[in-house]
Amino acid sequence: MADSVPTDHKVESVAEDLQNLVLGPDGEPLSKKALKKLEKEREKEKRKQERAAELAAEKAAREANVVDYAKDNYGKLEMNQSASFEGTKFTTVRDLESAQVGSVVTIIARVQTTRPTGAKMCFLVLREGTSTVQALVSVNSDSISKQMVKFADTISAESLVRVTGVVVKPDEIVKSCTVGNVELHISTLFITSEATSRIPFSMEDATRPEIEYTKDPLLVKVNLDTRLDNRVIDLRTITNNAIFRLQAAVCKLFREFLDNRDFVEIHSPKIISSASEGGANVFQVSYFKRFAYLAQSPQFYKQMCISSDFGAVYEIAPVFRAEDSNTHRHMTEYIGLDLEMSFKEHYHEVMYMIADLFTFIFKELEKRYSHEISIIQRQYPFEPIKYSEKPLKLEFKDAVALLRGAGIEVDDYEDLSTANERILGGLVRDKYNTDFYMLDKFPTKIRPFYTMPDKENPLYSNSYDFFIRGEEIMSGAQRVHDADFLESRIRECGVDPATMSDYVNAFRYGCSPHAGGGVGLERVIMLYLNLGNIRRASLFPRDPKRLDP
Ligand code: ATP
Repeated sequence: MADSVPTDHKVESVAEDLQNLVLGPDGEPLSKKALKKLEKEREKEKRKQERAAELAAEKAAREANVVDYAKDNYGKLEMNQSASFEGTKFTTVRDLESAQVGSVVTIIARVQTTRPTGAKMCFLVLREGTSTVQALVSVNSDSISKQMVKFADTISAESLVRVTGVVVKPDEIVKSCTVGNVELHISTLFITSEATSRIPFSMEDATRPEIEYTKDPLLVKVNLDTRLDNRVIDLRTITNNAIFRLQAAVCKLFREFLDNRDFVEIHSPKIISSASEGGANVFQVSYFKRFAYLAQSPQFYKQMCISSDFGAVYEIAPVFRAEDSNTHRHMTEYIGLDLEMSFKEHYHEVMYMIADLFTFIFKELEKRYSHEISIIQRQYPFEPIKYSEKPLKLEFKDAVALLRGAGIEVDDYEDLSTANERILGGLVRDKYNTDFYMLDKFPTKIRPFYTMPDKENPLYSNSYDFFIRGEEIMSGAQRVHDADFLESRIRECGVDPATMSDYVNAFRYGCSPHAGGGVGLERVIMLYLNLGNIRRASLFPRDPKRLDP
């Protein structure tokens, strides 16, 4: 029995055997062969797991390496809901021209174009109002990554971005941008408002000077109708921004000059009960249970204000003309710069004051708006208008003589045709070296009934037109301020004075002699800049064929 009692050593070895004992599915210990196979399979599984762990580690390492070190320097900002107000100091693109090289600036501008050069650099043209500047995103080891460069390149054209960067002097002047003496080396770049729709034409195509098409006829040309159909985009060009700044400037200078002479700015009604200057060319609108008309001019109201002792008045407001004129210089709605002034002795007091007003406008445009003019010149080069300090005044009969002298047949008492007006403009320029002049003493029969006839020769009248480059910008005259005489003039025109009794009666209680004129704002801009078509000088033009946008 003592033999059957295991020693300590034996006990251990048996326990080990039992532990290693692997049973098969039948519950019997595995054969040696099966055991070997199992061992191989376990080995294989272990190696597989080790390999997977290795791969996972490699992947993690790789990922750790590509963590974008510039990720906080670019991206798309949340929609601005005015949640913060940090008082950041922003610079305008235009002011970059005079910014100190090396200074750090922040701007908000549109991305006009992006142009990558390889994976490490991307050039952008940034635009704000009337100015563009070149900017550059270039990879460096700590703040600008390849991903940031890629982001810059994928920003859609016309998106608004907030950019911080260093002002740098480029190797050579950047001719393609209005700010050419510096460029911006971007350090942060955030989209503040993304252009999610594709623009109908590129800003580069819309801003290209005509001359470039003669060099390369394959360049895309944006025609006027396409521009006007997409006016919001078209107005974004630096040229259009400048044109409409100049338009605003003309109004501002008109006001400034007249305010300094004690004029009163008035606002006359535009919905009126009868056609102001005869039934033709007037838009009829329904007005509750009857019809009303859109004012063709503030003529009657300006004059009534003179009778109300305002002394001198002006108005800047829309004028409506239902003329089916499809020309380069007519619209169905335009902005009238109108003025009326009582005078002491002679209507020339007013006529020469208006001439001084234009000279003032021309001079101040050159002085205060040279930037805008130079921007417009880039796309629509034009010769600045010639004018003299002492304005040129010719009489209608002088104009007839000049035209006849050039072999052109004209009638003494008929209006000049548009073509003849242009020819006259050329003749006047050649003879008097000016693009701006006044024609005085028009034939009475071609002027409205409220025009005062000339005392000496009633076939002519105390009326005048002003011209720039041979096209009319203003019509004016001394008005009839005597009610009875006015009535007789109205009757001569075949109209019943009773139809305009409010107007006629305004002169029954005494009224100063007065004169004035009506200027077409868009005509002044078109002719001053030689744009060739009035629609280019109108924000959202209205003509017989266009009511939209
Ligand atoms: P035009 O002979 O050129 O048609 P008009 O003699 O009818 O002009 P007025 O009624 O005297 O012009 O208007 C005064 C000014 O208003 C004109 O000198 C011009 O500058 C501007 N104007 C007149 N009609 C239009 C129009 N349809 N579109 C744009 N501007 C106009």
